[in-house]
Amino acid sequence: MQLALATWHEVEEYLQTSRGIIVPVGSTEQHGPNGLIGTDHLDAEFIAKGVGDKIGAMVAPTLAYGMSQHHLGFAGSVTLRPSTMIAMVGDIVRSLARNGFERFFFINGHGGNIANGRAAFDDALTAQSLHANGRPSPIRCHMEASSGGTRATAPARALFPGALGSHATGVEVPPAQFSPAEAIPRAQMSPMVAPASTSLFDCFDYRRRYPDGRIGSDPSLSTPQHGERLFAAAVEDMADAYRTFMA
Ligand SMILES: [Zn+2]
Repeated sequence: MQLALATWHEVEEYLQTSRGIIVPVGSTEQHGPNGLIGTDHLDAEFIAKGVGDKIGAMVAPTLAYGMSQHHLGFAGSVTLRPSTMIAMVGDIVRSLARNGFERFFFINGHGGNIANGRAAFDDALTAQSLHANGRPSPIRCHMEASSGGTRATAPARALFPGALGSHATGVEVPPAQFSPAEAIPRAQMSPMVAPASTSLFDCFDYRRRYPDGRIGSDPSLSTPQHGERLFAAAVEDMADAYRTFMA
């Protein structure tokens, strides 16, 4: 069930059966020569909707922008500031909590969001703890990497031997290419496997170290068939993680 396609009466009915909601979150940033700019939020949304359909959970509209300052040296990349991300996540949680949602399960397509996502959760709980007339809060937030489960990571390592990488990777590029109606760009990779990850600072440093945007990966190995397989695996992983979170 999608929040955006429900009426408020339907949301009230849903709340009689569950207090949980899935929130897909990603980024809008370069993903190398053949990766879509929307890879991270397309993956998160696609997998979240798959989980929602499979287990009847409510899925909120996708947060398509995230923490992407490293990528601003490449056309089309957009970043939030940490304070914007913390405010946005907190406002969404508090708004939905006002009418009964209590369990917020963020399916995250972008590793760069983890630190400030957690900061947002902590900020919301700190406000509650500091409130002079505060009561015990039923709100629980959790963030899970969309393709980080064991069912998705094991085949990805096999499909991208030695070239899975840490940006524009073999777990993130294929599902976005499989998601409906997306064009599949082709590109020659040079070198075939991009330089491996080191510590990173700003977008100038990133562009100098990783000139085509990839880190450690060869996403030219990506196919829609890989995407279909990794998507199905990620939906199973995330459905299990959601059930555990709600238990
Ligand atoms: Zn990504």
